[in-house]
Amino acid sequence: MVDVVIIDGYTDEPAGLGVPPYLDAIQRYVAGAIWYERPEWQVEYFTIDQIRENPRLLRTANKAKIVVFIAGTAVPGKYLGGTPISYEELIRYSRLIREPIKVLGGPAARFGFGVEGGRCAIPKDALKEVFDVIAYGDVEAVLLDLLREKLSVERVNNYVTLPRSSPILNEIARRGAHIVIKHPCYPERLIVEIETYRGCPKAYFGRPCSFCIERFYGKPDYRPLNGILKEIEELYRLGVRRIRLGRQPDLYAYQAIGVGETEFPKPNVEAIAKLFRGIRRVAPNLRTLHIDNVNPGTVYHWKEEARKITKIIVEYHTPGDVAAMGLESADPEVIRRNNLKVLPEEAMEAIRIINEIGARRGWNGLPHLLPGINFVYGLRGETPRTYELNLEFMKRVYNEGLMVRRINIRQVMAFPGTEMWEVGDSIIRKHKRIFHIYKERMRKEVDLPMLRRVIPQMTVLREAYTEAYNTKKRLTYARQVGSYPILIAIPMKLPLYKEMNFIIVDHGYRSVTGLPHPIPVNKLNYKLLKLIPSLGEKLVAKLMKNRPLRSIKDALRIGIPYEIAKEFSFE
Ligand code: SF4
Repeated sequence: MVDVVIIDGYTDEPAGLGVPPYLDAIQRYVAGAIWYERPEWQVEYFTIDQIRENPRLLRTANKAKIVVFIAGTAVPGKYLGGTPISYEELIRYSRLIREPIKVLGGPAARFGFGVEGGRCAIPKDALKEVFDVIAYGDVEAVLLDLLREKLSVERVNNYVTLPRSSPILNEIARRGAHIVIKHPCYPERLIVEIETYRGCPKAYFGRPCSFCIERFYGKPDYRPLNGILKEIEELYRLGVRRIRLGRQPDLYAYQAIGVGETEFPKPNVEAIAKLFRGIRRVAPNLRTLHIDNVNPGTVYHWKEEARKITKIIVEYHTPGDVAAMGLESADPEVIRRNNLKVLPEEAMEAIRIINEIGARRGWNGLPHLLPGINFVYGLRGETPRTYELNLEFMKRVYNEGLMVRRINIRQVMAFPGTEMWEVGDSIIRKHKRIFHIYKERMRKEVDLPMLRRVIPQMTVLREAYTEAYNTKKRLTYARQVGSYPILIAIPMKLPLYKEMNFIIVDHGYRSVTGLPHPIPVNKLNYKLLKLIPSLGEKLVAKLMKNRPLRSIKDALRIGIPYEIAKEFSFE
């Protein structure tokens, strides 16, 4: 008998991702809260994709006492691993649940339902009709209250929160770890998002960025090191091998010194060293240990501390890591009018510092740690010149020989309670055409050459998973498991959900073309062999005529350069 069903509609917040293969913290905390109050209760977990595929799972949900929907993409993107629940689906599926108490949690309940970039969010109260309880506070705390109130919907306090520093929250995190075994990506591909704290020091100091919802979490509220490590230890014991420290606005500000006294408090190098050392102690053989979210302002204002922290990360993490930096704009007027974090020169310095230490290539083929740059359009003060300035800035980054792993371009989504709520999508609508023109230019003029620099031809990307096959294009898609993985398109049909290595032969704007590595030279057809750089038509024809090649010597004999031949397999 199932007591509680969690329906994971997926979440994506500025700090925290929960679209497969990621599992966010909220979903685990929900399970943990149930097991904290009712250790004997059965909790079931379904993703929205599982429900779409098999709507009969709703029968199980209908027999439970409580059904918790988790939903909300506050920074929606395009996802390969799953499709977040839509507003219509949320209403439709919740209406199909009759008897159980229906609870809505996650960003949709807290901030409103984000539909897409460039549109205003749907206010949270719009869902009042459909749910018995909307968790305006922390859904795990609301559930604790509901259980303590003996499931009385009338008495539950749906604004209640649970400080991240509290022993209860940290125990809930540890207990909730057990839900991971129900996730469809468990164990191999699952990447678990870990929360280190919430609440932005800059916003708390009184200077929130005009569009950001992190302010609503208030004073930075740090989880104690011990609580984080106990949770990770439990996850590791259960078989989780991939972790991202992604649930915080700025990892470099974990346990920072001087919160509330300054916009950019001093990073606590020792706390971060303890965090990474501790993770490796309790989870020694992690296959992925990545980070997310670094405030470029912290790096710029505390250069030496930032260098030390970057070194610590590079020592303990796994390569292919991204320090996602919300630059948002390189237009000084937009920066000023929206309280953004850094001026262009300051951002440039932060990018240099991360490159200085992180650019070294790691065992999986990718540089260790590179900045990811986020731009937001539609902010106050934006003019057509803003688009030029952003493009010029990124060209300067490229021309200086620096690397960034991704340039994320999005249109602002205005949420109630932020300064941008007044402005809404008016600027976006005004600049609709120019947005598309400059997005395309950024992809062509910066992304493409940058990708060639970050992943040069003949780089071997190791341990990628084949995730999808596009029948029309005859492409298999694969990705490494980690932060902002690069999409590898392989122009052949490969078995799905297999871990493989790929050698990169070509580049798109935001994806690369790969062949299996080592290259099965005796098996590939003419078209695929021709993709290998510097094998011209003649050499490919000669190679095909002389197949099967038995050794590297055979390859060299017919004139294949050593640099290429050494990547062949001769089966
Ligand atoms: S620095 Fe700005 S964007 Fe980042 S969390 Fe704080 S308020 Fe939000």
